[in-house]
Amino acid sequence: MNLIRPTWVEINLDDVIYNFLKIKKAVGNKKVIGVVKADAYGHGAIEISKILEHYGAYALATASLEEALNLREAGISLPILVLGYVDPSALEVASSQNIAVTLFDRNFIKRLKIYDSKAKSVLNVHVNVDTGMGRIGISPKELLFVVKSIENLNNVHFQGLYTHFATADSDIQFAEEQLDIFNRLIKDLYLHKISPDFIHCANSAAILTLGKKSHFNSVRPGIILYGLPPSPVLKSFTLKPVLSFKTRIIYIKKISPGRSISYGRTFVAKKEMLVATIPVGYADGLPRKLSNIGEVLVKGRRAKIVGNVTMDQTIIDVTGFPNIHPGNEVILIGKQGNEEITATEIADKVDTINYEIVSRIGKRVKRIFIKGGQSGKKV
Ligand SMILES: *Cc1c(COP(=O)(O)O)cnc(C)c1O
Repeated sequence: MNLIRPTWVEINLDDVIYNFLKIKKAVGNKKVIGVVKADAYGHGAIEISKILEHYGAYALATASLEEALNLREAGISLPILVLGYVDPSALEVASSQNIAVTLFDRNFIKRLKIYDSKAKSVLNVHVNVDTGMGRIGISPKELLFVVKSIENLNNVHFQGLYTHFATADSDIQFAEEQLDIFNRLIKDLYLHKISPDFIHCANSAAILTLGKKSHFNSVRPGIILYGLPPSPVLKSFTLKPVLSFKTRIIYIKKISPGRSISYGRTFVAKKEMLVATIPVGYADGLPRKLSNIGEVLVKGRRAKIVGNVTMDQTIIDVTGFPNIHPGNEVILIGKQGNEEITATEIADKVDTINYEIVSRIGKRVKRIFIKGGQSGKKV
């Protein structure tokens, strides 16, 4: 009995290992903080983290404390840094689980003082300075005050200093200006005899474009761990895309000229056609914007999406495809024969970035993990 809908994602863990080792080599064995936020960009944070732990990542980074605690519950013991907001009431939980938090607002010092007065364990803090990202982070001129305030506390440790690039994939000059500000801040701290254990700023794009001068003693790659370029033009070393998104044909029919397909009748057949329905829709992360413009792979060939993508089902044109049956495998993202559809290709079509395509693949899509060329389950 197979109760699983035949729409699934395959995560090739061998390719994660390949990408990770490539990155490690590219950064000259600096410490790697693997970014596994948003369920590892849709790839499955627990399994990805286990691989990174086994192959020598120094730490992991998540967006929220909840994500970090999920990794602890799964038995992952690497240090974890939460990049985003952590509620002050949860600082004791964070420190007791060896989870470092980010200070990005000077008002947080008050909360750290309260924590410090009752603390049972040391809380590691990384300070995020906004050198140009304009999202979170204290302003550069607040840094010294913030760091000195932390150093006055007994149970809070200033473990790291970091910043985040806005344009390391596109405007290198602006990224270098950010880097200059960051370097000046580090010098300032040194003059005051303060040196954090970790200094980091390089995301995937910076690792590829800015190189060594952005590596300091640790780096924070995300998207390249998953084998995807941070922007369509950036490919300074080969990566292997880790994720494939697959489904199977569930229904095939002939339609005559004049018949329309799907909601809104945005597609009307001009000739007799053979169309197939696949059980995947926008609730699974197949963007509705692919309606009438997207493509998938069947029998090693490209087939067009016809009509509007619906929540759970989509129709494709298989006119002239030989020997086509319900049950045939359909590739939404990945390779089949000599053809490949990448997350980046889909992103370009719907005017977004590959990050959004993979991280929004739906929760109900089963992830199947492959290692040593073998998967545990068949669909
Ligand atoms: C998401 C994120 C990263 C990783 O970015 P990539 O472009 O995926 O390498 C690094 N640092 C911070 C602060 C982030 O939010």
